[in-house]
Amino acid sequence: MFRISQYMQEIAAPTPIGPTRKPPGPVVIWNLIRRCNLTCKHCYSISADKDFAGELSTAEVFRVMDDLKAFKVPCLILSGGEPLLRPDFFEIAKRSKELGFYTALSSNGTLIDAAMMKQIAPIDFDYVGISLDGLGATHDKFRRMEGAFAKSLAALRLCRAAGLKVGVRFTLTQDNFADLPGLLQLVEDEEIDRFYFSHLNYAGRGNKNRKDDAHHRMTRQAMDLLFETCWRYQQKGLKKEFTTGNNDADGVYLLHWVRRKFPQSPELAAHVEAKLKQWGGNASGVNVANIDNLGNVHPDTMWWHHTLGNVRERRFSEIWPDTSDPLMAGLKHSPRPVEGRCASCAYLAICNGNTRVRAEQVTGNPWAEDPGCYLTDGEIA
Ligand code: SF4
Repeated sequence: MFRISQYMQEIAAPTPIGPTRKPPGPVVIWNLIRRCNLTCKHCYSISADKDFAGELSTAEVFRVMDDLKAFKVPCLILSGGEPLLRPDFFEIAKRSKELGFYTALSSNGTLIDAAMMKQIAPIDFDYVGISLDGLGATHDKFRRMEGAFAKSLAALRLCRAAGLKVGVRFTLTQDNFADLPGLLQLVEDEEIDRFYFSHLNYAGRGNKNRKDDAHHRMTRQAMDLLFETCWRYQQKGLKKEFTTGNNDADGVYLLHWVRRKFPQSPELAAHVEAKLKQWGGNASGVNVANIDNLGNVHPDTMWWHHTLGNVRERRFSEIWPDTSDPLMAGLKHSPRPVEGRCASCAYLAICNGNTRVRAEQVTGNPWAEDPGCYLTDGEIA
């Protein structure tokens, strides 16, 4: 996850460059259930409104949680499918809090009403993230459910009224780009704490057409808008988090934005660059892990076709450090054995070669250059 607001804060009030902090264990995104009441266009878990066989039982989830705790995992993101459809969901969430995990709920929001809030509020989630793919009709079309937007917005309001930290998760596509300014306005008007901008796992058409690629152009416009909005909030003293995911080239793009925006202060850009290096870019397989509904462990949520082991057969704490899997060995190696323009990129230390699954999907080689990089050759030189 790339935290734009953190760097805006650094521009406004630079802090000393300390040593790189290594989290004690990975953040675990846990898809507790595959069932979902919606069938969204861009769902990576290809969920459906039916029960899937073989999912982890409550006792198994608890056993894994104990192991995760001992392995010093700091944070569990409880996701799905729609996690609220799991009958034991609140037992799991309660236990997660009792064990001291930072506990986040990732939901489509359509099931969160006043009655459901009676169960959500006492858990005291550290964060509730709800997906919005646009405003009104756009969102309903993406979610293939009339009235989904109204329900999800109501859910955000209910969670916020209960004093929970809430965020909107938005995945950019050609079909919802036009809604982005309106959605940012909604986030401001509704006093929503966080805006999480997720890049679609888009591979593009490779290096040749990078400059002309419509999706890349749109991405750059969206990032410019996010940076400008976030900087405006920073200047107004509005506490709002802006984060992005699925494209670590965002860090490099931000650095170019800082250079353009503050040409008279090269030391500011140098400071931001040092802070970006401290962040270090993509963390799949290192500081981000995924457990699916069947207990399979993956380097992150986009790697469901690559299983490292199953928590029924082997503890997570044994699976995760095991680098006998070549993909895990490469992901954990620093620098990663990336090829093509990523290998020669001047900013590899910031981006860490971005999203390896895109390279693998397009070329079959997980170490090929990331085809989803939207930066021009000039910007990576
Ligand atoms: S070329 Fe590769 S390493 Fe450089 S910014 Fe793009 S994706 Fe990241």
